Amino acid sequence: MTEHTLTVAGVAVDTRHWIGGERIASAETFTDVSPIDGSVIGEISRGTEAEAAAAVAAAKAAFPGWAATPRAERARVLHAIADGVEKRIEDLAIVETTDNGALLRSHRRGVMPRVAHNFRFFADWLLNLEHGDFETRGHTNHVSWDPAGPSVLITPWNAPLMLSTWKVAPALAAGNTVVLKPAEWTPLTASLLADIAAEAGLPAGVLNIVQGYGSEIGDALTSHPDVRRISFTGSVPTAKRITASAAANLTPLSLELGGKSPLLVFADADLDLAVDLAVEQYDNAGQVCLAATRILVEESVAEEFTRRFTEKAATIVQGDPRDEATDIGPNIHERQLEKIDGFVRRALDAGARAVVGGRRGEGQYYAPTLLTDVAQDSEIVQEEVFGPVLTLQTFTTEEEAVRLANDTRFGLAATLATGDRDRAARVTERLVAGTVWVNCFFVRDLQAPFGGSRHSGVGREGGTWSFDFYCDLKNTVTAPKGWKDHG
Ligand code: NAD
Repeated sequence: MTEHTLTVAGVAVDTRHWIGGERIASAETFTDVSPIDGSVIGEISRGTEAEAAAAVAAAKAAFPGWAATPRAERARVLHAIADGVEKRIEDLAIVETTDNGALLRSHRRGVMPRVAHNFRFFADWLLNLEHGDFETRGHTNHVSWDPAGPSVLITPWNAPLMLSTWKVAPALAAGNTVVLKPAEWTPLTASLLADIAAEAGLPAGVLNIVQGYGSEIGDALTSHPDVRRISFTGSVPTAKRITASAAANLTPLSLELGGKSPLLVFADADLDLAVDLAVEQYDNAGQVCLAATRILVEESVAEEFTRRFTEKAATIVQGDPRDEATDIGPNIHERQLEKIDGFVRRALDAGARAVVGGRRGEGQYYAPTLLTDVAQDSEIVQEEVFGPVLTLQTFTTEEEAVRLANDTRFGLAATLATGDRDRAARVTERLVAGTVWVNCFFVRDLQAPFGGSRHSGVGREGGTWSFDFYCDLKNTVTAPKGWKDHG
């Protein structure tokens, strides 16, 4: 324990950066606050351009060794990290809940096991990564995935360790070294990951973590000429700044951004299932990029849908995310709550009706909200709120449903509730979305391509797509002639 160690719900967390296998402190700190009750968790090292540059230098120095490490050995270390995550699920879960306010039970049972799975999945995928050789006029083509170099990974606060490791794991598997910049509202579990990775035997400098504000150190990371990949999950305005910054070196980017995804409910749907799917969109207090926040219901069932939805929403338990009985915890930060409330106030002023909620609760909680009487071109229908706020609109034809669904600048996901397979196929084909769920929601497989269209992102990650991004692909063409083989 040092003066730089915090005890968070009984767990020791180092507040410094992790650079080149060492803990480095900054002169300045920033304050980390728990959304559960607004209490101060502690002071965290506030990175400067100097620490950003040091982290990239450490990643650059470690790159040749890690890139040359055989695939099987890289995979072994990733599995050892997964083992370390599994051993510390309880610690990771309570620290994450304290830091970002999401449910302890889902961190325990869903999120942290998935963090371990991120490492195991990409370790195993690496070992099977290949494209069969093929021939061109007697010449052999061989495709290889070469490690690209130091990779900067920048992540948000809504699912901190899950979203960080969904990038860290494939980047490391690919043979790249990493500089991770976690969100400043949720710095803690990344620091625990550094401990776990070191214990698992990941060589110094292969994973580096710089804490701090993106506005202060983002540019130093994303415009650095030694950085060969940038993967970012976060908001559209930040993505535009990063894209401009990366342009200086033409650094390849993967961008996973916001959404305003639709849930289309057709009259032929199992209405109870559709209501369940709709209420699920309040999960994580609506702080889910994939959330289907625009409910589009066929006119003939809209009244009945709304009645059942209102009934079901009334049973949602909002409260302390550490309680087993809680369904929805707090929103991340006072600033986020003000933003959410601003969206709702302006919508109500513009004539929307709050069928459910429509106001702030006590402390850092926002009442689950459903707004009707909203115009398609209104702010509340077009802009991402990132809180527990849904809108409901109606349609009369399939044509209109598809038009409304596609009519935003986003294209992250879409969910359909329908009992008609032909309709599902027809509608799915016409939706602009990186992921479409039919009669389900949030079923995610790491081998599937993941990402968004339009302003929801650039590129896809997942399975081989992750390796395509984190690697420099090479095709080697070998002639049958010119050999001096003996015998
Ligand atoms: P944000 O863009 O404000 O911040 C994300 C990260 O970027 C943070 O680590 C922040 O410090 C950093 N950052 C800020 N300015 C930077 C700069 N100039 N250069 C480099 N980095 C900078 O987003 P947020 O509010 O933390 O996250 C919410 C957003 O993330 C929502 O729009 C949500 O939809 C999106 N999101 C998308 C996905 C997805 O997979 N598509 C998943 C989760 C969240």
